[in-house]
Amino acid sequence: MAKPQSMIEQVRSSVAVELDRKRKPTLRPDKKAEKKAKHRAKHHRPMKAAFFRYCYYDPAFKFFVEQVLDVDYLPLPEATRQTTEVGVQNSSDYVCTPYKHILGDFVEALDLGADMVIQFGGPCRLGYYGELQESALRDMGYEFDMLNFAHGIEKGYLGWAKEVLSKVNPDIDIPHGVVKLKGTAKMMELLDEARDYFLAYGGFERKRGSFDKAWDGYMNELRCATDERDINQAYKHVMESFRAIEIDKPERPIRIGVVGEMFTAIDERSNLGLDHKLMSLGVEVHRMLNFTNRYLHYNEPNLRVGAKDYITYDMGPTSTLTIAAAKQYAQAGFDGIIHAKSAGCTPEIDCIPVLQKISEDYAIPILYLTYDSQTSDTGLDTRLEAFYDMLAMKKEKLS
Ligand code: SF4
Repeated sequence: MAKPQSMIEQVRSSVAVELDRKRKPTLRPDKKAEKKAKHRAKHHRPMKAAFFRYCYYDPAFKFFVEQVLDVDYLPLPEATRQTTEVGVQNSSDYVCTPYKHILGDFVEALDLGADMVIQFGGPCRLGYYGELQESALRDMGYEFDMLNFAHGIEKGYLGWAKEVLSKVNPDIDIPHGVVKLKGTAKMMELLDEARDYFLAYGGFERKRGSFDKAWDGYMNELRCATDERDINQAYKHVMESFRAIEIDKPERPIRIGVVGEMFTAIDERSNLGLDHKLMSLGVEVHRMLNFTNRYLHYNEPNLRVGAKDYITYDMGPTSTLTIAAAKQYAQAGFDGIIHAKSAGCTPEIDCIPVLQKISEDYAIPILYLTYDSQTSDTGLDTRLEAFYDMLAMKKEKLS
């Protein structure tokens, strides 16, 4: 059987061939390819860099590594139970689950031949995890480089750029890199926009699996993107595919807003497929928390003003967004809210009393889910089904 790594490469090259087939045959030289080859010869550094697995952002990580850093991207296959176990075995019990997942991913990336792993900083302990993980991996005998965004960024964007140039690739074409950085942000935004649509309508498809199929096509097309034009095209294609899917949506479906911690509330590996579990129950899912809203267009003071009855200070990485989103869902008449967090996530634990107050004020039920590496799939199914039944009965009674 082919290794997962080579299977991924096969899928990608078949998508590249398919996209190429859409172009008219011509005898003229491919100027774009020539330009790319010239650029590569001058600025590319042959080293393999890997990110950890995070939600559905893998195409954006690939774009960033290949187009901004100008090095080779090492994609990771689907995570397995073994990935989690390696992370857990080499972590302290006291760290939160994202640390364990990321460590397991890095071990796998290094085993697959990565020369460099990339860790981004974070506004909580995630900001210190890079150093801890680097030393844990060295203790395990790995030799590698780590690009840790938490380092240079303390000195502003210039400090970050210097770190990248010295650590990753001194030959980066800076103006080109800046343009591609903008492209990375665009891809993040369009991934989030398409995901929002998927969450709102995916639970009502007539033919099971149609939304997933369109989504997978989108991911594959984005993985082949090399500029903003390709990114916009891929988004246009996925939205056309989504809109062409036949749906059967009731007039007043159960609407649930998901709030919580940056990893657990979004990442399907961390939350055991929460999006899909809710959609398979026939729920319209909304989740304001995503990379775009937390990083690209984040204005914490403004958000806090909107939820000033409940918070006075910024309490942590996603706390303001959790509370502001919960309040907005409650005001918009949603049927329920799900709060998802990792075990040991102090900032989100602090949000719980505030969420309880919102629940009381607006009479909106909230399901609190705490995940660790031992959380069982069956236990989660039972809780979600019970929550759904309760919301459906309440809705029926009120109608
Ligand atoms: S937000 Fe919570 S779970 Fe996420 S990395 Fe920070 S402390 Fe850990």
